[in-house]
Amino acid sequence: MAFKTSDNPRHTDSWYAASAKDKRIRPPLEGEVEADVCVIGAGFTGISAALELAERGYSVVVLEAERIGFGASGRNGGQIVNGYSRDLETIAARYGRDKAVKLGEMSLEGGEIIRGRVTKYGIDCDLVHGGFFAAFTEKQIREMEAHKAHWEEHGHTGLDMVSKADVGKYVKTDRYAGGMIDRLGGHIHPLNLVLGEAAAVESLNGRIFEGSRVTGVDAGEKPIVRTDRGSVRASYVLVCGNAYLAPQFPEISGGMMPVSSQVMATEPLEPTLIERLLPANYCVEDANYILDYYRRTSDNRLLYGGGIGYGGHDPKDLTSVIRPNMLKTFPQLTDVKIDYAWSGNFALTLTRIPHMGRVSDKIYFSHGDSGHGVTTTHLLGKILGEAVAGHAERFDIWASLPNLPFPGGRTFRVPLTVLGAWWYGLRDRFGF
Ligand SMILES: Cc1cc2nc3c(=O)[nH]c(=O)nc-3n(C[C@H](O)[C@H](O)[C@H](O)COP(=O)(O)OP(=O)(O)OC[C@H]3O[C@@H](n4cnc5c(N)ncnc54)[C@H](O)[C@@H]3O)c2cc1C
Repeated sequence: MAFKTSDNPRHTDSWYAASAKDKRIRPPLEGEVEADVCVIGAGFTGISAALELAERGYSVVVLEAERIGFGASGRNGGQIVNGYSRDLETIAARYGRDKAVKLGEMSLEGGEIIRGRVTKYGIDCDLVHGGFFAAFTEKQIREMEAHKAHWEEHGHTGLDMVSKADVGKYVKTDRYAGGMIDRLGGHIHPLNLVLGEAAAVESLNGRIFEGSRVTGVDAGEKPIVRTDRGSVRASYVLVCGNAYLAPQFPEISGGMMPVSSQVMATEPLEPTLIERLLPANYCVEDANYILDYYRRTSDNRLLYGGGIGYGGHDPKDLTSVIRPNMLKTFPQLTDVKIDYAWSGNFALTLTRIPHMGRVSDKIYFSHGDSGHGVTTTHLLGKILGEAVAGHAERFDIWASLPNLPFPGGRTFRVPLTVLGAWWYGLRDRFGF
């Protein structure tokens, strides 16, 4: 297959793209350039790594196939969720207490990096503090209580359980049996965050090329990264293409499965209405395996996400999947217009733990945040930068965690995963 540099790189048609603050289009790479580090992919992972390296004085070139934030980073629910897609108890049971303690020590850092950069670089991305995890059943409440106890062992002091009677302080619906708040959670306009971080990279002399799909990498002491119009010779290459990487680099992209999730934004609501629905302006995510996530935007829309497509396949009509869920939560919104609906792909690993590693001494990768990546990508991008700078201790902890192939190989991994998700969906519905 021939990969061409896109002459017209574009964002997906989302509320985020419509309300992006930085509309500049960076030029594609033309000709041969040199850098200390070449980063492939301008999502949170790639830009976080580039910023860490630029701050340390490295010369960095970022190559993005489309636009900065084109992938999941510019399309997601914008929810700052601490921790990983697997809870720390499971990590301890699978990989041992020592590793769980080390991962636990890092588990609040992604959020700290975001808040720190927003302040340091004055990034205007509508940062709001506070998140609410909603439980439908007593079983989910007990699981949240157990998570809270484990989190607190790892130093998280921002959590509080919420009784059914108090749910209305955070979300006006009678769907939930209770929940938990995380004061260190929150929400952001993710595209404006990544665009602001990219501008910070450029302010430190980093170069970012859009419309510059990488078509191959010549490995070696100084790898050469190729697009169809140019090349970058660098001492290190960081591959951060996540769910959008395939079919290139099958040795990396084969370790994860692209999974789509759908998001929509209503028309702007009356301020009094949206304040009634989400009085604390916390973001909300429910505790089901296939979950709903929603929040208020800075212009008073309800941004509601959910649904899932294994293999990255989307339903034809995106709103037909999400709108019924929104109406279950907020039946009073029946007549509200949906202005935008879009989808994006995240990278799922079988273990639901991010996968970092080395293809060679000079080529590193990170992907597979498995749906909870806003904070984790910021952390892992920083860790990629540290590894290049000669401090690979934290990188090596992540790289030591096994990445298992999906059962069924490329042909059957999607139907088998759908079957697994169906089973977990039944458990959520019937509470067993
Ligand atoms: C719809 C949706 C909702 C989500 N909601 C949340 C949420 O609310 N909270 C949360 O914590 N997580 C959420 N996530 C997950 C989170 O968005 C991702 O984990 C995270 O953004 C991944 O960042 P990334 O940089 O690794 O990948 P991406 O943002 O996907 O970036 C990868 C980039 O690499 C580029 N690329 C790929 N191949 C090449 C190539 N060959 N050459 C050049 N460039 C290339 C792509 O164009 C892309 O821009 C959501 C994900 C989706 C899809």
